[in-house]
Amino acid sequence: MPDYVVIATWPFGQTAVKAAAPLLADGKPALDAALAGAQAVEDDPTVFFVGYGGLGNAVGTVQLDACVMDGKTLACGGVAALENVRHAAAVARRVMEKTPHVLLVGQGAQQFAIQEGFPLETLLTPESVAEWEKRRPKPKTPDKPPEGHDTVTVLALDRRGRLGGVCSTSGLPHKLPGRVGDSPLIGAGLYVDDEAGAAGGTGVGEEIIRVGGSHLIVEAMRAGKGPQEACELAIRKVNQVAVRRGVHPAQVSFLALDVKGRVGAACTAMTNFQYAVGRPDGVQLLKAKELEPEQ
Ligand code: ASP
Repeated sequence: MPDYVVIATWPFGQTAVKAAAPLLADGKPALDAALAGAQAVEDDPTVFFVGYGGLGNAVGTVQLDACVMDGKTLACGGVAALENVRHAAAVARRVMEKTPHVLLVGQGAQQFAIQEGFPLETLLTPESVAEWEKRRPKPKTPDKPPEGHDTVTVLALDRRGRLGGVCSTSGLPHKLPGRVGDSPLIGAGLYVDDEAGAAGGTGVGEEIIRVGGSHLIVEAMRAGKGPQEACELAIRKVNQVAVRRGVHPAQVSFLALDVKGRVGAACTAMTNFQYAVGRPDGVQLLKAKELEPEQ
């Protein structure tokens, strides 16, 4: 049996990994650890793309997307366009545990969160409002991929050999109100199955949804590919679709973990995707392999 492993997106993934690792070391379930990791980032106001202090949509309202998935049972839950509740991933877990549904959106998601005892609060901070102003959309430059969007996706393998995953984001800054990205969608931003592996994404959600990113990776692992190979396959697909559509490939990154504790990550060109890996011997920040489109 491999020892525990936890991986999380971006340099702030180190915060997630450091919060999740002690739980895994204590023998707690992968999903509990992944949720604690994501929540540590949701609580960090210096991270402008997740939870409290996340950037607003086109009218300045913070709308959060999140989902969770348990690899043993394939139980899953999500919330989209959730306003004024910072712990979106924990609400997603309650959707999984307390309702017969998988996804609640907007006012319905907020109503459910209130019923479950989550406090309402503003998610804006003076710093996030100033950052939102700085990032007001500029005239379109088609050759330049959009920048400045990050999600925390945490994948964990516990000491019993089970996988769990959590994804949480405020989505693309200045998105249209009501826009839903990949992050709350099971199969797009996250997919976890103990019989195959776990995968998650970050980047332009529309492009991740278009290829069914995380499910594609997990199914590739089920078919025998390792996590690294499977992530590269999904990025190649994103690149191919961009070529077919005649657009520049958007910034998209994937990461994956299997039940043997092997990890992988890949991203489109110029994405500079880094991810944190935590094991009993410590935390590392690694750079993902970047793949150029093949013409
Ligand atoms: N995937 C997120 C979304 O499209 C944003 C990100 O990860 O950067 O909402």
